[in-house]
Amino acid sequence: MTLAELLRLARQRLEASGIEDAALDARLLVEHFTGTSRSDAIAWPDMVTESQAVAAVEAALERRSAGEPVHRILGFREFYGLELSLSAQTLEPRPDTEILIDAILPFMRDVAAREGACRVLDLGTGTGAIALALLANVPDATAIGVDVSADALATAARNAAGLGLADRFTALRSDWFSQVNGRFHVIASNPPYIRSDDIAGLQAEVRLFDPVRALDGGEDGLQPYRVIAAQAAAHLEQDGAVVVEIGNTQRLEVISIFENECFRLLEARRDLGGNDRVLLFAVA
Ligand code: GLN
Repeated sequence: MTLAELLRLARQRLEASGIEDAALDARLLVEHFTGTSRSDAIAWPDMVTESQAVAAVEAALERRSAGEPVHRILGFREFYGLELSLSAQTLEPRPDTEILIDAILPFMRDVAAREGACRVLDLGTGTGAIALALLANVPDATAIGVDVSADALATAARNAAGLGLADRFTALRSDWFSQVNGRFHVIASNPPYIRSDDIAGLQAEVRLFDPVRALDGGEDGLQPYRVIAAQAAAHLEQDGAVVVEIGNTQRLEVISIFENECFRLLEARRDLGGNDRVLLFAVA
């Protein structure tokens, strides 16, 4: 089968299964499992693909047709220009979380310019997405990525090594702050923030494939923010900041949780869909 034929077959299969982004997903899967690039498909449409690669694409198409997200099948996804491995215990990094990176980078660059260092704590690091994107963009920074899942920490450490950031990244197994020592210039988190009762109503690609521990924020979805707000000041440098991702209806509640712990809002940002998504706080 030629590359062009395989691409067509893949797209048709996914379309027939009702997959929304059939053409894009077909291309990603075919490229990955045949080891070709987008330009190969344009320059060499008649290239004959090996039967092993065709079989691997077919297996991937079955999984995609059954509803598995395309990046889970690939085993990696891009976040802030970095390629990150995923595992069953890591949330798939979302493009919306890139807003958090944009929001805190200028603050980190100021700290690094002033102090020659910038220490970051990433609570619930998962793939390491937030910590690693920050390290990749602030050469003087170091980060501790905290997670309760040993599997997630192994994934984060592997990602750090793959990106050449291992010397500035430490994976720490801890339930929030319980094993954390020292003070940081930035405490960052994309915590679980879905209300427990809403988990069942999430779209299947999220509900069935993202770890529930990375989604479930307790009865009102706000419990992780209470834990972070209550303990962050004890782990922040004097001029430090806390940056958190929030659910799109949680802005006022999360601001009030942090204000009750003597933080003040520095900045609020919306995501690409216009939803409140990121809050930045400093000690009041
Ligand atoms: N943004 C994710 C979703 O709605 C939730 C991630 C989280 O709880 N931190 O799928």
